[in-house]
Amino acid sequence: MRSRLQKKGMTRRQFVAAGSLALGTVLSGCAARLPRSLETGQTPRKSFIDMHVHVAGIGTGETGCFVSERFRNSFFFLIDMWAAGVPHWRIEEAGDQLYVQKLLETVRESRTTARAVILALDGVYDAQGRLDREQTTLYVPNDYVLRLAREHGEFLPGVSIHPARRDAIEELDRVAEAGAVLVKWLPNTQRIDPAERRFLPFYRRLAHHRMPLLCHTGEEYALSAGDQRAGDPKRLLLALEEGVTVIAAHCGSLGEEGGRTYLEDFFGLLDRYSNLFGDISALTQINRRHTLSRLLDEEVMARLLHGSDYPLPFFPLASPLYFMGRISFSLSLRIQRIGNVLDRDVATKRGLGVPESIFTKAEEVLKPRLVAWSSSQGPGRRALCQGVANVSG
Ligand SMILES: [Zn+2]
Repeated sequence: MRSRLQKKGMTRRQFVAAGSLALGTVLSGCAARLPRSLETGQTPRKSFIDMHVHVAGIGTGETGCFVSERFRNSFFFLIDMWAAGVPHWRIEEAGDQLYVQKLLETVRESRTTARAVILALDGVYDAQGRLDREQTTLYVPNDYVLRLAREHGEFLPGVSIHPARRDAIEELDRVAEAGAVLVKWLPNTQRIDPAERRFLPFYRRLAHHRMPLLCHTGEEYALSAGDQRAGDPKRLLLALEEGVTVIAAHCGSLGEEGGRTYLEDFFGLLDRYSNLFGDISALTQINRRHTLSRLLDEEVMARLLHGSDYPLPFFPLASPLYFMGRISFSLSLRIQRIGNVLDRDVATKRGLGVPESIFTKAEEVLKPRLVAWSSSQGPGRRALCQGVANVSG
């Protein structure tokens, strides 16, 4: 089953990439300044928290990041770096720092996004709970995102802990104390089965710390995938039962089981668990283009959070032009010309009718942890954070 799905995924990915690259090339010549009102939408304040932003690196500057050889050499990783504005020849010497610099500029220049939750990514762990470097595609350590968040007020730390690692609970306590605002899982790639009962103590500890679990749901094609069934939203039942605030990244878009889509499963779980939320990251991509309109039609807005899945909005896979019919041609062209990818992502979602409440929801759902983050900082830094909060209203 695994190879069949992977094979299907590659075919779809290659097809979509080829088509969208062609479209992106056609449109790339038409960048122009836009009226401020269009770029900023209805809310002129720069106030949003983007709660789904990836950090990647190859370990330059002793960041502790690493990637698999296959991923390092892959077309997708190179395009990642290209899309983030990093020339290939500089990746080897300062790739990690250049990536962060570009991300920081993007947040600073955004007219909508004030802060970004930057995500660590834990690796694959073996049966003894030891990190398996061979099987790990991309590794971003918790201390790296914690340090970046301490250095830059625009960043908030999103950590990642594989629940099968030997020190999972200790690490969770440590990063909670350090002020982490959420724990991120990508089960398909990290080879986590969220339904395993041995993870109960971990879930209880998450609930104890009021630490949200941002968990990828649905099939996964950006990084290598193990068993795609790990993305089945129903596998999060145990965490939900234990009272963990679960944020289902992408709301289960992509994938199905037994003739029922994961998106349907997500809706079913929303009805049953008030501690379940979904994020609308990556939903402006062509391969997920039907999900957002379904979510809006189902009127589950009060349970949705905004995230961009940066750097994915750089890719031609994400564009307002895939939503013609829902967004007029002239408006979608104008949105396409917005230079800042975070603002373009917001504008596309606004064009599709995403209400402002979704863009400000993260502030509410992450609140206990935002307070923890703020109080983990020194008094000087706390005042700075307060300033950012005040500016953002
Ligand atoms: Zn993501």
